[in-house]
Amino acid sequence: MESQANQADWETTDVLICGCGPTGAMLSGYLGKLGVNNILLEKEAAITTDPRGIALDDDGIRLLQGLGLYEHVFTEIGSCNGDTFKFGYILLVPWLTQIVRIDIAKAKFISGTHRNLHAKHFLHFDMASSEGQTGHVGILAHKQPILEKHLRSTIEEADSCELRSSCTLTSITEDESWVYATYDDAMGREKRIRAKFLAAADGKTGFTRKMYLEPKGIQLEWAEQTKYEETWVALNWKLHLPTRETHPSFPLWNLGYTPEQIYDLFFPVDFRFLCNPDRPAVCGRFGLSEDRLWRFEFVITANEDGVEMASEEKVRDVVYPYLTHSGSRYGLKQDVSYPEDCIEVLRSRPFRFSARSCNKWSLNRVILCGDAAHVFPPFGGQGIASGFRDAISLAWRLAIACKPGSNIDYEHLLTGWYLERKQQLDASLASTVRNGDMVNGKNWSHIFLRNWGLWFMQLVPNWKHWLERGPRGAGPTRYTHTSEMPFLPELGGGVSFPQSYCISLRDGSEVQFTDDVIFFGKKGIFQIVVLLNTLDEVESAIQDMEDIKADESLISPDEVTFFVPRVACQSAPAGRLDAVVAQPLFRTASSDEFAPSTLCNSRPEPRGYIESLIWDTIGGKRYVVLRLDRFVFATCNSKTELERVLGQLSNLF
Ligand SMILES: Cc1cc2nc3c(=O)[nH]c(=O)nc-3n(C[C@H](O)[C@H](O)[C@H](O)COP(=O)(O)OP(=O)(O)OC[C@H]3O[C@@H](n4cnc5c(N)ncnc54)[C@H](O)[C@@H]3O)c2cc1C
Repeated sequence: MESQANQADWETTDVLICGCGPTGAMLSGYLGKLGVNNILLEKEAAITTDPRGIALDDDGIRLLQGLGLYEHVFTEIGSCNGDTFKFGYILLVPWLTQIVRIDIAKAKFISGTHRNLHAKHFLHFDMASSEGQTGHVGILAHKQPILEKHLRSTIEEADSCELRSSCTLTSITEDESWVYATYDDAMGREKRIRAKFLAAADGKTGFTRKMYLEPKGIQLEWAEQTKYEETWVALNWKLHLPTRETHPSFPLWNLGYTPEQIYDLFFPVDFRFLCNPDRPAVCGRFGLSEDRLWRFEFVITANEDGVEMASEEKVRDVVYPYLTHSGSRYGLKQDVSYPEDCIEVLRSRPFRFSARSCNKWSLNRVILCGDAAHVFPPFGGQGIASGFRDAISLAWRLAIACKPGSNIDYEHLLTGWYLERKQQLDASLASTVRNGDMVNGKNWSHIFLRNWGLWFMQLVPNWKHWLERGPRGAGPTRYTHTSEMPFLPELGGGVSFPQSYCISLRDGSEVQFTDDVIFFGKKGIFQIVVLLNTLDEVESAIQDMEDIKADESLISPDEVTFFVPRVACQSAPAGRLDAVVAQPLFRTASSDEFAPSTLCNSRPEPRGYIESLIWDTIGGKRYVVLRLDRFVFATCNSKTELERVLGQLSNLF
């Protein structure tokens, strides 16, 4: 490559991102919010139309919300896995079916070698509740291309972001101040660009790790707990409805079933983990209900060929038994199968899955994030959410490192980033591996003990509830501090800050998410949140903030958000509320207030939502200094302590 001495030849930006999958797009979106100049190179001309990821957890939904995409989440991107369960099916009385509508969204674990999707499950996760830390449901069953489309819209809207499609990164070099890259553009011309940092979100076989970092000692290693590596065939189907006209001899018409009911019978709501020791599999609907999209993934054994197993003939052998119901179920002599010509195969191909994470996620000015840094097996729905977490927690650090004149120790900063992320990734891997152990179990004595052990546990209501919460049962993420991590552990830092619903006392009755009122339209990389217990504390807290000193390039006292519990407003003496309505104060909102609000459109009403969660998590402290990635930097009670915390913040950065 030509000498880098003539730097005028190099186009310059702050952050160069390689790869516009979900991780790169989210990183660009958050950098755009922070006003950091970034250029995204993507080798493909357009978004990959093949939906790979279909499950996104509540944290992932929260981070989409943080980019202003919430209105699209349940209307275009996906649904909370399944829509309505209709009472009549229990009784097999079709005409009763519209009487009771029960929204459910469960991930069910089904044991046995049978091929019955309706067999009784030995465990389920309740994914439609709002029992986690975010106020959101536990899972979004989404269409990855539509999710990516909306992520890209945030790039288009931000002046500081630019996506260059059909551009393939081809080389990387570095010196002390810059990372230099070349890429081939859509016309095949070589282009040169330098940036303060290169964030490689170029996927699990991406150029950056393989060609640049692996020779320097960075390796995608086995995740500690497991050496999982298997090939799965993943199918995406679009289902069409049979009708009396198109399929006049279909046996269920005579029993009064409608086309929609037949679809629901054969492709039921709820995700299923088929813990079949002969052939582990997972299946379920994804996207919006009306899309009628279905995913089926099954493991292939060591002596089978992945491509062959993805062929129409083999898929028929493996999957169709699940789509054939015994005639006795309907009082018929012959078995009933979903008509094959109503199944449109969108994709059927093998994928190799493993659980791995890189030993280091950054070296000098080059960073790995998303699948480039870690990969997951397919039974935890953690791939995209993990990339999202990488992106938001990297974005604010890069904003600090790219500040004009910054002389921050960026290696220390980035090491702190990936050490934190590795802790959270270990938790994601552990929950994925737990699911995997159940799905992949082959030893009959283990299976027996598992099924009976879980059966006994579920006799105790508290344990049953804990099990049903699935990964959310673990509570908020709390980092174990190391010296590279930017939070104050002695002051309650390092815990994930929960999200609730709230209403402005000043500006009316609209229900909002607390994250939105804390972060939207604000410039600070950090935010101060004030948690009051009664309305009597309002004036003194506002006064405290008036002359507080802070490094305005990091945090602004003008952007402080004040919260008070709803119950404190209800129990306040007459006139007290009127006295504070002019203040920029938010009270919490209940699930009953959230349910009829527009935020609850197209999603289940909140169940298990805890209105006081923020106060409970923060443990009675009044002031919270919050990082953009929704982790607590520090908490304290007095103005003097807060000033000390703000001083420590500006010393760090
Ligand atoms: C069958 C299957 C099922 C899955 N199910 C789930 C699920 O249910 N839930 C979940 O969360 N995850 C799931 N995943 C994983 C999920 O799809 C990935 O974790 C996610 O796509 C990773 O996002 P990413 O942006 O890090 O990488 P990618 O999506 O791989 O994006 C990388 C991008 O970089 C681009 N690129 C590569 N090299 C270059 C270069 N040299 N120059 C420019 N651009 C480049 C690529 O074109 C691509 O657009 C599944 C994956 C598969 C295969």
